[in-house]
Amino acid sequence: MSALAYTRARDLPEVVALLRANPEARVLAGGQSLLPMVRLGLTEVTQLIDVQDVAELHGLRLAKDHLVMGALCTHAQIARSALVQEHLPWVAQAAARIADAQVREVGTLGGSLANHDPNACWPALALAAQARLETSQGWVDADDFFQGPFTTALGQSGVLVAVHWPLGRLGAYAKFEQVASRFAQPGLAMGVDPRTGSWRVAVTGLGYGAQRWAEAEAALRQPAGDWAHLKPPLDLAVGDVHTSAEYRAHLARVLCRRLAANLKAHLPDNGLADPNPARHSTPAPPVPAAAKNTPTPSDSPWWKRLFDR
Ligand SMILES: Cc1cc2nc3c(=O)[nH]c(=O)nc-3n(C[C@H](O)[C@H](O)[C@H](O)COP(=O)(O)OP(=O)(O)OC[C@H]3O[C@@H](n4cnc5c(N)ncnc54)[C@H](O)[C@@H]3O)c2cc1C
Repeated sequence: MSALAYTRARDLPEVVALLRANPEARVLAGGQSLLPMVRLGLTEVTQLIDVQDVAELHGLRLAKDHLVMGALCTHAQIARSALVQEHLPWVAQAAARIADAQVREVGTLGGSLANHDPNACWPALALAAQARLETSQGWVDADDFFQGPFTTALGQSGVLVAVHWPLGRLGAYAKFEQVASRFAQPGLAMGVDPRTGSWRVAVTGLGYGAQRWAEAEAALRQPAGDWAHLKPPLDLAVGDVHTSAEYRAHLARVLCRRLAANLKAHLPDNGLADPNPARHSTPAPPVPAAAKNTPTPSDSPWWKRLFDR
């Protein structure tokens, strides 16, 4: 391994300046993805820029019609937050099922989005929720942020500052988990705006990174329940040593059916535009996780219970 410099930045302009000065410098957030990649020689890095002291990247607050999460919010902080549990219960639930207790305490929302691992949960959640990302380079919609596996609109010198989650929508996330890590294989996030009847469906863990699934969104808008006859999204999937593309696409369709049935049960008129949107100003009850491969702690072996803490 070549020499590695470590710098603890004080504020956002300093982080940006350091990144611009050295093309092989990287932001260090929780280090849960970056440090293993550096150790394994999978990425060329000569300088780590620790951002823990950068105040702009911290905090979780309620704005007028958004919940704002600083990039340095950890998965555990989001899962435990009373604000998130109240306003975005499905997001809190998803955060609680990332990795294990140790990774959740240090791994960050910003690190996950900026890394865009093709099996990560947060990118799909951000797409389904229509989140807006505040970066050192300006605002970016989630739709324009993810540009392929391990590639985002940030480029080498951009810094993700915060994620703005719109309120007043229902959502759900479920995944079939890789047994050792809990990465999605695949995962599916679904969001609906009851005022407009507009649905957003995002898949992850199909191989190409988080993507929207246009056919599912179109089917969910139809009153006749066309979503039940959806074809698996084979064009979005690729196989690897774990599973074939066909199997992953099949699992994505299974997740889509389960979440759609669950969410539609909470909507008037089977999910079409609501003539009385005021009644959705308070969030609907949480939608339970749909994947069946997650036994309850009492059924599970001791090593599995470690993940469930
Ligand atoms: C055992 C294990 C299991 C896991 N299971 C899951 C899982 O089930 N689901 C899931 O979604 N993830 C999972 N992860 C990934 C985990 O969520 C990581 O925490 C996350 O992917 C990276 O966050 P981090 O804060 O550690 O980022 P780092 O490792 O510090 O950084 C990751 C990358 O993002 C960049 N970066 C970080 N923050 C910023 C920023 N604010 N602006 C610009 N660039 C930035 C870094 O330069 C680096 O390139 C798992 C990880 C491990 C080790």
